[in-house]
Amino acid sequence: MKKIMIIGGGFAGFWSAAGAIRRAIELEKENEVEVTVVSRDSFLNLRPRNYESDLSQVRIPFERILKPIGGKNVEGNVEGIDFDNKTVTVSSSSDTITLSYDKLVLAAGSILQRPNIPGLEEHAFSVDTFQEASNLHQHLDNLVSKKSLAGCYTAIVVGAGFTGLEVAAEMVSMLKHVAEKNGDDPSTVRIVLVDHSDIAPDFNEEAREVIKGALSDLGIESYTKVAVQSISEDSVVLSNGEKLPALTTIWTAGVKASPLTSLFPVERDNFDRLPVDQFLRVIGTEDVYAAGDCIRVLTDETNVAMMSCQHASPQGKFVGYNVVSDLFEKDSLPYGHPYYVTCLDLGEWGALLTEGWDRKVMMKGKDAKEVKIDVNTKFIAPPLDDKEEILKESQPNYIYTFEDF
Ligand SMILES: Cc1cc2nc3c(=O)[nH]c(=O)nc-3n(C[C@H](O)[C@H](O)[C@H](O)COP(=O)(O)OP(=O)(O)OC[C@H]3O[C@@H](n4cnc5c(N)ncnc54)[C@H](O)[C@@H]3O)c2cc1C
Repeated sequence: MKKIMIIGGGFAGFWSAAGAIRRAIELEKENEVEVTVVSRDSFLNLRPRNYESDLSQVRIPFERILKPIGGKNVEGNVEGIDFDNKTVTVSSSSDTITLSYDKLVLAAGSILQRPNIPGLEEHAFSVDTFQEASNLHQHLDNLVSKKSLAGCYTAIVVGAGFTGLEVAAEMVSMLKHVAEKNGDDPSTVRIVLVDHSDIAPDFNEEAREVIKGALSDLGIESYTKVAVQSISEDSVVLSNGEKLPALTTIWTAGVKASPLTSLFPVERDNFDRLPVDQFLRVIGTEDVYAAGDCIRVLTDETNVAMMSCQHASPQGKFVGYNVVSDLFEKDSLPYGHPYYVTCLDLGEWGALLTEGWDRKVMMKGKDAKEVKIDVNTKFIAPPLDDKEEILKESQPNYIYTFEDF
């Protein structure tokens, strides 16, 4: 039995597993391959949905997607990789085990960076993981006991990139709902976006104007070209000296690839991502593939894949295909992703849909919101409890285009 070990059960990891199982069936080798996903828990967290007001649908149990296709799951934290002996060390609350592999896939994703700002670690919330998003929700529920304090219904969102914008827009209705529930005036809600650069720096001028208009309509205040100096339980101090009373601060600024990438004897990029070849094999290693937020790879002749589920999922499908092809000395497929689209949720205002690497505005407002809801509830989630459909979607050329919306 050949062992394929996948580290990480996010988009890249799950689709690597499904892609490998599909390819093994195609080659009539399914009884010769064991596919195991090692991950911190037994869920696929639909991470792009962690900003939402309802978290009940943002985790999918592996029982419903991995088990039906015959994949295995080991719960634990990968702490070491021995490339010479082809083993992985996994620790859990009860013990530490060593697992062997024939082919390894690193799909451990990325992690929010928390710079050394006084109070950030203790007082800032985030939505990087399901647990962190749940902690934020718990905190909002507890505001009822602090309703007399200044800044009770003020949220400071740090980082005006994609995640920060979605969080800020969603917080408007979330905090208003909390205020109403607590018997307070929802018009006292104040949402402040803070960024040391500009609003939506990755978007073009046309898209940025749409976003700024939406923020203004939502009543969100923007503080740009200003940094956060310190965070406490009840306020944020900015680099211009201003102190904003706020019981809720949410940090969204900057992610880097998983620290597991540091175990590889290769040079990483500025985001700690690993270099891979066109078949998504980690350059400078043997029998190791990687996908998702922890790799730097071109999607076409010029554009580097974003740290996005839009890229992580197809990469997983290519890796699954290639790792099994490699095991049985069949041809692999070079990775490519000819299409790029973004759909930014702007809360009750709607959403913004852009197409292409220049982010041409295609749709905005309520129409785009319908698309965003479809993206979050249909497109990014694998089919449930349906082996045939899951395996069908795990083909490496299964990429959504604008027409799918
Ligand atoms: C709020 C928010 C909004 C976003 N919006 C969008 C969007 O609109 N569109 C888009 O395309 N992308 C979006 N993204 C980005 C997207 O979520 C990521 O790019 C995507 O999740 C990357 O997939 P991945 O499989 O590489 O990594 P992840 O989804 O991060 O999965 C990594 C997995 O590895 C596991 N893991 C990590 N380290 C270890 C270890 N040492 N041992 C065991 N397991 C480990 C983790 O527990 C996790 O299961 C958003 C992200 C956030 C946080």
